[in-house]
Amino acid sequence: MARSPRSPRKSKSPSGVPSGGLRVTPLGGLGEVGRNMTVFEYNGKLLIVDCGVLFPEEHQPGIDVILPDFTSLQGRWDDIVGIVLTHGHEDHIGGVPYLLKERPNIPLIGSQLTLAFITAKLTEHKITPVTVHVEAEDIHQSGPFELEFVAVNHSIPDALAVAIRTPAGLVLHTGDFKMDQFPLDGRITDLRHFARLGEEGVDLFLTDSTNAEVPGFTISERELTPAIDQVFATAPKRIIVSSFASHVHRIQQVLDSAHAHGRKVAFVGRSMVKNMGIARELEYLKIPRGLVVDFKKLQSMPDNKVTLICTGSQGEPLAALSRMANGTHQIRLGADDTVLMASSLIPGNENAIYGIINKFTDLGVKVVHKGNAKVHVSGHASAGELVYCYNIVQPTHVMPVHGESKHLHANAELAVKTGIAPERVLVVKDGTTVDLVNGKAAVSGQVEAGLVYVDGHTVGKVTEETLKERTSLQEGGAVTVVALVDADTNQLAEPLEFVTKGFIQDKVIFDGAAKKVSIALSKPSVSEIDDLDQLEQLIGDTVARHLDRAYRRAPVLTVVVIDS
Ligand SMILES: [Zn+2]
Repeated sequence: MARSPRSPRKSKSPSGVPSGGLRVTPLGGLGEVGRNMTVFEYNGKLLIVDCGVLFPEEHQPGIDVILPDFTSLQGRWDDIVGIVLTHGHEDHIGGVPYLLKERPNIPLIGSQLTLAFITAKLTEHKITPVTVHVEAEDIHQSGPFELEFVAVNHSIPDALAVAIRTPAGLVLHTGDFKMDQFPLDGRITDLRHFARLGEEGVDLFLTDSTNAEVPGFTISERELTPAIDQVFATAPKRIIVSSFASHVHRIQQVLDSAHAHGRKVAFVGRSMVKNMGIARELEYLKIPRGLVVDFKKLQSMPDNKVTLICTGSQGEPLAALSRMANGTHQIRLGADDTVLMASSLIPGNENAIYGIINKFTDLGVKVVHKGNAKVHVSGHASAGELVYCYNIVQPTHVMPVHGESKHLHANAELAVKTGIAPERVLVVKDGTTVDLVNGKAAVSGQVEAGLVYVDGHTVGKVTEETLKERTSLQEGGAVTVVALVDADTNQLAEPLEFVTKGFIQDKVIFDGAAKKVSIALSKPSVSEIDDLDQLEQLIGDTVARHLDRAYRRAPVLTVVVIDS
């Protein structure tokens, strides 16, 4: 009787990946909108797809950006064979300079515009990257990973999806995408290519979840033309347009309208000037001769000939738009000027944006925004498009990416609706490892994936504890208590001194606190204390209790004890 062949002995790599298996580890973008990053490991080698930043919210004061957690890559820098950048948005490329500080020569693989944007960014960080230029349809071998690139349509030109082939199976990662059927550059999401990969058999499909909750289909960029044109046809004076500095096609539409209505245009803001320079040079932006002029020249033109395109569409306080609203920019706006906010409203920025709209309105400026005109459309596939993709690709397993929990789950539900078995739809969070072995994908563990804060020149030094302190300072202010004590008796040598910041110092209440401290220190056991920390603790607790009772507030309290 023939014996059935023995199944190969299960062995594991040092990092625990099963022999012949592919490990997929999202380090960012799952559970949040931003800092997208996924690590693929096969046979001891690592491939990274995207490395972006997340922008802070109001409860993270002082933070510039938030990075993915690179802890699990420590000691593995030489194993990385490349970083695929699916497109040039900050939440996909913004973390690259920080990653390349660990090993500057990791090849960056991407399309022309993506590489141009990241190279410009790295130049600012004084890094000259190793780049590998790929286009849709290209096949590129990167270590053990065979990469195949697919054209996808998004709110920035030149976006790519990537298929990753290893002996463990075929993975398809969409990056960010939508399915605009009439894009300005004619470059549609290549569903025929998706279908070919589907025919080959996609074992694991990673799909953009950002708009999974939105029913139907994302409308075409082209449908914004009438509303944008209307602004140019009717604005009596200057027009100021704010947009993302990477939204080349939206800006193209603005340029075309400005040109058609005989206006001139200037770009304002560092990132806008830089990116549009790159896009123009590489011919992603087509600018009629004489349309774009220097900002200074524009200032001497009649108001009804002026268009300014600037940054700050998310209400960033230092960007041009905020400063114009606050009257601190050299451009002073007034009655009959028009502001066109041709951009999305990223959750968390609502207060800042509405604040700007109100300030402009008070100045008599007319504000056209997505709330009152069709001047913005999302860059992400809605539910209808996602369902199409599932039906075309018919993947064996699905792993929703890019989104908060609610987006990931909504995307998972769509996958299940198209007939994919629920147990083959893996909804995971940052740091969860998924192993693809013999065509079967399953959760295998968890690595560190905390939020890494960039604060000025420090990276990863600010902790949750620091942020908690900053929030307490915001809410309760700070009180410093200075106590000069007799080193022998631990009694106060002089009256307590209080210094407050952002906290109301009521003399009666603070005198009361001082009295409580005197009483506490007069206890016989106190003279035995020979540890300053313990003495500080005692004084701090006494003052904190008193202030809490008197004010119902808990300021950040610092006690300084000095021996007399
Ligand atoms: Zn994007």
